[in-house]
Amino acid sequence: MAPIFVLIFIAAGVLLFLFYKKPVKTVDLPEGYKNVLTEHVAFYRCMDEPGKIRFEQKIKEFLGYIRIHGVKTEVTDLDRLLIASSGVIPIFGFPEWKYYNLRDILLYPGSFNEIDFSTDGAGAVMGMVGNGTMQQMMILSKPALYHGFNNTVDKENTGIHEFVHLLDKEDGDVDGLPESLLEKKYTIPWLNLIAEGIAEIKKGKSDMNVYGMKNKAEFFAVAAEYFFEQPALFKKNHIELYDLMTQIFHQYPPDK
Ligand SMILES: [Zn+2]
Repeated sequence: MAPIFVLIFIAAGVLLFLFYKKPVKTVDLPEGYKNVLTEHVAFYRCMDEPGKIRFEQKIKEFLGYIRIHGVKTEVTDLDRLLIASSGVIPIFGFPEWKYYNLRDILLYPGSFNEIDFSTDGAGAVMGMVGNGTMQQMMILSKPALYHGFNNTVDKENTGIHEFVHLLDKEDGDVDGLPESLLEKKYTIPWLNLIAEGIAEIKKGKSDMNVYGMKNKAEFFAVAAEYFFEQPALFKKNHIELYDLMTQIFHQYPPDK
């Protein structure tokens, strides 16, 4: 074979290796899953029947390609359904979305230390998206995961928060600007809204979680928790953020 054909052949092989995405398998959900989702996941409960069926399908897919491991804790069916719901809610507006930047989730019995990820000390971290050697991993605290779904009057949900960081990371950086989801013309308005939002929190004039003033990425994740947990209130108090977030997430979350 002429060298040029050999090169083309090798290049094609490399490209195939880099970009080939394995078809996603779906798993069977545990018995009674409809009741469990109805009881624990307000986003699902408030949806019409076709929406519920699509949600269930997305959960079956999610659990087909993401592995969940318990660290010093057992992983129950409810844990799996709540983790999958946290992942499905932010991407529910994207029929084809898969978290290709995530493979494993470690479920911890409580909050942890962000230096060595231990649960023994006084660590207060409830969730994180891994970097470096922890690439394609996420850690979630079980009590924080439950609190996010059981408390339907606050504006917080740790599971959703971490998956929004993953969406943000699609373009390579967790920086509060989800470039692959936001049309370029909205970049400047979006960054301005974040800057204003952070300034409002710092002045004590915001109803958003103060953790959002840490940086742009945390502001985006905290605002997204509010957007999905209390959409009507978020729309009333932060209409411009709400409008841009319906574009980013391609959806109008159902109100409770
Ligand atoms: Zn965060």
